[in-house]
Amino acid sequence: MSEPHTEAHAAPRTTEGNGTYDVIVLGAGPVGQNVADRARTAGLSVAVVERELVGGECSYWACVPSKALLRPVIAIADARRVDGARQAVTGRLDTGAVFARRNRYVTDWDDSGQALWVKSIGADLFRGQGRLDGPRRVTVTRDDGARQTLVARHAVAVATGSRPVLPDIPGMAEAHPWTNRHGTDSSTVPARLVVVGGGGVGVEMATLWQGLGSQVTLLARRRLLPRMESFAGELVAQGLAEAGADVRIGVQVTALRRPDAAGPVTVTLDDGSELEADEILFATGRAPNTDDIGLETVGLTPGSWLDVDTTCLVEDADGAGGAWLYGLGDVNHRALLTHEGKYQARTAGDAIGARAAGRPLDDGDWGDHATTADQHAVAQVFFTDPEAGAVGLTAEQAAAAGHRVETVDLDFDAAQGANLYADGYTGHARLVVDVDRDVLLGVTMVGSGVSELLHSATIAVAGEVPLKRLRHAIAPFPTVSEIWVFLVAAYRRQRARGDAG
Ligand SMILES: Cc1cc2nc3c(=O)[nH]c(=O)nc-3n(C[C@H](O)[C@H](O)[C@H](O)COP(=O)(O)OP(=O)(O)OC[C@H]3O[C@@H](n4cnc5c(N)ncnc54)[C@H](O)[C@@H]3O)c2cc1C
Repeated sequence: MSEPHTEAHAAPRTTEGNGTYDVIVLGAGPVGQNVADRARTAGLSVAVVERELVGGECSYWACVPSKALLRPVIAIADARRVDGARQAVTGRLDTGAVFARRNRYVTDWDDSGQALWVKSIGADLFRGQGRLDGPRRVTVTRDDGARQTLVARHAVAVATGSRPVLPDIPGMAEAHPWTNRHGTDSSTVPARLVVVGGGGVGVEMATLWQGLGSQVTLLARRRLLPRMESFAGELVAQGLAEAGADVRIGVQVTALRRPDAAGPVTVTLDDGSELEADEILFATGRAPNTDDIGLETVGLTPGSWLDVDTTCLVEDADGAGGAWLYGLGDVNHRALLTHEGKYQARTAGDAIGARAAGRPLDDGDWGDHATTADQHAVAQVFFTDPEAGAVGLTAEQAAAAGHRVETVDLDFDAAQGANLYADGYTGHARLVVDVDRDVLLGVTMVGSGVSELLHSATIAVAGEVPLKRLRHAIAPFPTVSEIWVFLVAAYRRQRARGDAG
């Protein structure tokens, strides 16, 4: 269901009545909710401003609906890879039931449950467009034009997220393109769908709609999943092709034509060819929702990503009294992922609490209130078929950062558990080892079910577990996880032989 993105707990209400709060949060997506929660836990009064739905893009048009729609697609594909189960899969997906499942998870785009959660933590919710109006001041403009001014004693936390960017192509407006919005809220399956963009959103949308019955053509300028190890994109492209999608790499859209809004769209490519589709979906990047939030009133540039320090403080914002403006989640462009934004929000919420109380940022044994994992151990999963997961650095990124690295590569079928999981399991894993420190800098895993395996890699990378200790982490037989044992053993053999990966 569309649930708040943080644990529920009761807290006394803190309405101040005069529009003054300790903390004002702009945007009630997962990140805004988490910073509000942490600030309340620190005993601060909190106002949350939301212009659309409490829960944000993530709950209604991104993570939650896309995964609700993808799960049946992957479940059927998984069943088809197991002899005995395959024979039982004789029909097609029931798209009506798939859409109904999605609708349940987004609570029919009704945010009343999440709005109640805001109330339950003792924060006040203001509906409308929030804009900075100088240091520590925020105006909220409601849909009916009414305006209210709020004042923050300690902090304003901007968690306004991001939106899709459409390239400047002739015919774009008349083509009525889909973005992640229709890509996740549509309840009709276009017969032919062109997906433009080979990043995470593009490959998930292609997997999803091909699985639901569209004939998908995926167009990408360069290799798929360009921020991952190259084998990830190659295996995902292979999986899409096996599912029947037409994957074209190295092409660009140069023009669109849709003279009749109810008719097909004609797509012209830079090689001069044309193709026709019933819908076209662009997944060609994101822009920060900072163009209309009053950044100019505090000396910042509207429309820019917010540069922040490790407590997510926007260092160059105007304002007497120093630390007050925070940029969290997508808006700071560190890692456009819900879990990373929520981690930033928890950390920043604690830092706001500490600063408000005049306490040092160092929290004793628990460490200081600084985000690090959103830079060196970012975990990401794309729910394609096969799934692609990675944490930390690729071999190329690690080498570029000056590390002396060695890579270890194995196909998953080295682990018997993988073959028992799926007959003919296709998948590949890579470790990127910092040979000087004997720790992992990055891990990439591609294969069925790796989304649930990736956290083991995140623990190893974020925990900087030495390989000589990791070899004592023995995965149960016969599981897909046994790949760890074989990877670590392969690394040891490589070192003994003196090969560089
Ligand atoms: C199709 C798709 C699938 C994705 N899948 C995943 C996934 O599986 N896992 C994952 O980790 N990430 C995923 N992401 C990324 C994830 O959606 C974002 O990283 C996440 O939503 C960021 O959270 P946020 O709170 O920063 O912003 P958002 O979720 O965008 O929330 C921002 C909120 O701020 C509000 N707002 C904006 N401006 C104002 C204003 N001026 N005043 C008041 N309110 C305002 C907006 O209405 C919105 O509710 C996906 C993204 C897409 C597009």
